[in-house]
Amino acid sequence: MTVRIGVIGTGAIGRDHARRINQVLGGAKIVALSDVNRASAEAARKDFAPDAMIFETGEALIDSPGVDAVLVTSWGATHEQYVLAVIAAGKPCFCEKPLATTAEGGKRIVDAEVAHGKRLVQVGFMRRYDAGYIALKQAVDSKIGAPIMVHAAHRNPAVPEQYVTPMAIHDTMIHEIDVLRWLLDDDYVSARVLFPRSSTRSHARLRDPQIVILETAKGTIIDVEIFVNCHYGYDIQCQVVGEDGIANLPDPMAISLRLDAKKQSEILTDWKDRFLASYDVELQDFINAAAKGTASGPSSWDGYVAAITSDACVAAQESEGAAISINLPDRPSLYN
Ligand code: NAP
Repeated sequence: MTVRIGVIGTGAIGRDHARRINQVLGGAKIVALSDVNRASAEAARKDFAPDAMIFETGEALIDSPGVDAVLVTSWGATHEQYVLAVIAAGKPCFCEKPLATTAEGGKRIVDAEVAHGKRLVQVGFMRRYDAGYIALKQAVDSKIGAPIMVHAAHRNPAVPEQYVTPMAIHDTMIHEIDVLRWLLDDDYVSARVLFPRSSTRSHARLRDPQIVILETAKGTIIDVEIFVNCHYGYDIQCQVVGEDGIANLPDPMAISLRLDAKKQSEILTDWKDRFLASYDVELQDFINAAAKGTASGPSSWDGYVAAITSDACVAAQESEGAAISINLPDRPSLYN
């Protein structure tokens, strides 16, 4: 079966997903595109999906009988309305992060999916599909004993002028929030944020770097350094300290040079290159599940928990070092 896919939002990531579905992956075809900016949809059709129909609205695309499954890759604030419409149509939906921009929005999606009675939504937390994180999880699950501490870092060389302090949580750390929960098979109970002095490369509306400290239900303490003006490269680090040993996330492959009396290897500078292969694996997983009329991988529940945790982390940014509790509702059995 070829899954006929429609894409809502043909900006950077929507276009890249359309390319991988039509040119790299198997079992699916892009048949429909929609974007508030019609010229953007037309450009995506020309470059990656010459047979696709262009729909004036996302809702019309979702309701089209020629569309079996939908990718929501529009601006974050529009995700909730489209995901709810896709669930109402009973079709599988891949939604880029964030699932919703508020915890209440995440809950509305979970409630709609639970009422439908079957999983339909996969959230674009692609790190769970990264070979390095998968190897790290195997070590955490079977080699280093119970995890006690995690030291993680998310460093970008620079960010645009409009990037402000809460975006370090909503746009950047959101990936650590999801992947560390998955890595530890645990849930968060509290968040604290510490601010060292700001980098001189930052500006008045961005306190950078920051350290987020998360405590889990099993008692693991996690520190995540977010440093988005680190200047030297795009660098993702994760070290898990267990009772018997330590496991580190591998760095991306890089040639090691001995040159000019120095040992050197390159560090990536563009985030798009860091998890490139994992996007292919996550979308193939979506296609395979969509062919069976369902979804797998990161769920609406994971997206909802990420939104609750993000809200707590932003509240912690504003609370001068005080811990903010994270209280999760009971998980519906659909997500067990
Ligand atoms: P982008 O380049 O700005 O693309 C978003 C597109 O959606 C734009 O073409 C925009 O049109 C369109 N759009 C806005 N509102 C819409 C609506 N109501 N209906 C249909 N289309 C609409 O942004 P992006 O970088 O692709 O990011 C898109 C989403 O993917 C974001 O939620 C982002 O967080 C997520 N993302 C995830 C990853 C990841 O690593 N998983 C990476 C990148 C992005 P206009 O330009 O005219 O507004």
